[in-house]
Amino acid sequence: MDLNIRGRTALVTGASSGIGFETARVLLNEGATVVMTGPDPDELKDAVDRLSAFKDSLFAYDADVTVASAVDRLAADVAAEVGDLDILVNNAGIHGAGGLFHEISQEGWDRTIDVDLMGPVRVTRAFLPGLRRGGWGRIVFVSSEDAVQPYEDELPYCAAKAGLLSLARGLSRTYASEGVLVNTVSPAFIATPMTDEMMSARAKEQNSTFDEAIASFLREERPFMELGRRGRPEEVAHVIAFLCSDAASFVNGSNYRVDSGSVATI
Ligand code: NAP
Repeated sequence: MDLNIRGRTALVTGASSGIGFETARVLLNEGATVVMTGPDPDELKDAVDRLSAFKDSLFAYDADVTVASAVDRLAADVAAEVGDLDILVNNAGIHGAGGLFHEISQEGWDRTIDVDLMGPVRVTRAFLPGLRRGGWGRIVFVSSEDAVQPYEDELPYCAAKAGLLSLARGLSRTYASEGVLVNTVSPAFIATPMTDEMMSARAKEQNSTFDEAIASFLREERPFMELGRRGRPEEVAHVIAFLCSDAASFVNGSNYRVDSGSVATI
């Protein structure tokens, strides 16, 4: 299938690793110009080096999505050096504060909501004018299975990701008539640094190996992930790329689960 995104310009937040990095790679492979962002200049440089084959169509700017002035600077730099975006992938996120509700501090709540919900709000506000100007646009938010299936020990993350579903659905109503389509992707348990960290902590807690921690997590916490393994970042990136493309020209306001069946409801 031809995605027909050659020549489009995309920005991916949280592109220095995991799903964001793979999304950048897939979009570059499809012929798009890609702007990668991440909060850490060294991590970002390392990611850019790994994509050196695409250096002519790759830009990178560091920006922390919780810092309004950094997002404004990012938007100004992109406008001056790259131009208006056609595609925005709001991928940056953290797992954030864990524990039962009464164990999580106010700071834990504030930080998680700030990165995972307000970050995408800031970035979208900054880039929406350019997307609207172009008359053709795609915005994809990376939510999570947790949005519709809250786990009691990660409620700040669940609430932030549920907020993204609502935000995306609302935006999809406002801007579709201008050609800007908005959708969400909801992965579950993908092999990235985020779940590496979770599984390392679980292995330590259980005095088990990393692989045993994954196996017990799948068995005990994600019983409906029928494929019985972690997903690969590119398995999410391909769905994101589809939603960023001409091939998805009639897809708006939807939420694509990329979770091997983890969400048990119809
Ligand atoms: P990851 O490898 O840890 O990537 C997260 C990315 O977000 C990194 O590039 C990170 O940069 C960046 N980031 C973190 N805080 C930021 C901030 N304040 N400002 C800007 N960028 C920031 O994790 P991932 O698994 O690929 O996660 C990508 C997205 O998928 C997230 O939204 C996550 O919630 C979602 N998701 C993941 C899974 C999963 O199982 N992995 C499941 C459902 C949803 P640094 O590395 O430099 O900090």
